Amino acid sequence: MALSGLDIYKLLPKTNCKECGFATCLAFAMALAQKKVSLDKCPKVTATAREALESASQPPIKLVTIGKGEDKLEIGNETVMYRHEQKFFHPAGIGCLVEDTLSDNELTARVAKINALTFERVGQKIGVSLICIKNSSGDKTKFVNAVKKVASGSNLNLALYSGNPEAVKESLTIIKDRRPLIICADKAKTDDLARLAKEFSAPLAITAASLDEAAELTDKVKKLGVDEIMIDLKTDDVSKRIQDFTFMRRLALKKNFRLLGYPVLAFTGSNTPDLELAEAVSYVAKYAGLVIVKNIEKEFIFPLLVVRQDIYQDPQKPVQVEPKIYEIGKVTKDSPVLVTTNFSITYFTVACEVESSKVPTYIICCDSEGMSVLTAWAAEKFTAEKIANLLKTSGITEMVGHRKIVIPGYVSVLSGKLEEVSGWKVAVGPREASGIPNYLRSYK
Ligand code: SF4
Repeated sequence: MALSGLDIYKLLPKTNCKECGFATCLAFAMALAQKKVSLDKCPKVTATAREALESASQPPIKLVTIGKGEDKLEIGNETVMYRHEQKFFHPAGIGCLVEDTLSDNELTARVAKINALTFERVGQKIGVSLICIKNSSGDKTKFVNAVKKVASGSNLNLALYSGNPEAVKESLTIIKDRRPLIICADKAKTDDLARLAKEFSAPLAITAASLDEAAELTDKVKKLGVDEIMIDLKTDDVSKRIQDFTFMRRLALKKNFRLLGYPVLAFTGSNTPDLELAEAVSYVAKYAGLVIVKNIEKEFIFPLLVVRQDIYQDPQKPVQVEPKIYEIGKVTKDSPVLVTTNFSITYFTVACEVESSKVPTYIICCDSEGMSVLTAWAAEKFTAEKIANLLKTSGITEMVGHRKIVIPGYVSVLSGKLEEVSGWKVAVGPREASGIPNYLRSYK
């Protein structure tokens, strides 16, 4: 378990010399416990204390970075078992498998299809983040050619999945700037691949048949100088695998068991789309850092990304859209004006129904701190005064020639007060967004 501030304080020199930038050793200890500062800032800490404090100065699950630049994939560094305890920090990466047994044309087509797997949902861009090239042929030349083709055809992050150190070395030489993940396909080659990971500063995924073996291998690989490690557990039993992933997470977080404190890699093994989707979703939920799938159809990938987006959403921060005026269609001075809150799902549901009505409309999103209509009203974040102020300051008065606003049916209670404080005529719209198209088509 991570050390508390007081546990850390007991190990510090207690001289209050301030060299760390904190007024006292206790203040530094508290900041270290919250991982707001690194232990290196105290030049006076003894070697023995440093060793004991390692647990407080490092995350229980190592951060692993695959790739470089803006679209690099960062996984791990998680601190809680359950999202409601705080939040999950780094969404599981979704990777797509490409085998080197494909013909050139098939490979090009598959890569193009994977590149297109990006979507927009509730105002956020979601997509796959990695292509895993598998040395299924067992042939070095075929693997290296496939790596070259994938690398030139895609900017996504890359993983090299092979048990042939020569094939991996040649591929790394070609794509060293991409900082790919090396996935060890042959346990017997772990040492060789670990040396390559060290030489090319690349992360390495070890493959183990059990938790004991995984702990042995991470220890060995770490001693060979590899810092960023992932764990791939090979078992055909999906439920056993999920059980092991959960056990690893618990050991890392609750017992501070460093040898299993690395993000988990999971390949789907199911052969039908529905089972593969259920399997992949289970891995995202419990607790994979990277899930590599075979199916690259949009209707398979999209629900998987949606689940990931929902699981990794900060529970303390609802998804929000910018509070402002949105124009749907070719609006004019006579277009209706609807008001709603800035909770993303509320806004996009309303916007979608307005679009389907084909009636050009203004939607004003009130800043409700991301709450839905009724919740915001109950919390006094969606009040007559707030809406009146928005009508005055948002610029809508210059955009329309009328002074009539439509409020959601659920907050009809606001209508009298809103008319009084804004001077606008208030119409009460439907309670459910599904009623908007009919309402707008007969709107006068
Ligand atoms: S540098 Fe070390 S000894 Fe000095 S105040 Fe900070 S924690 Fe204490």
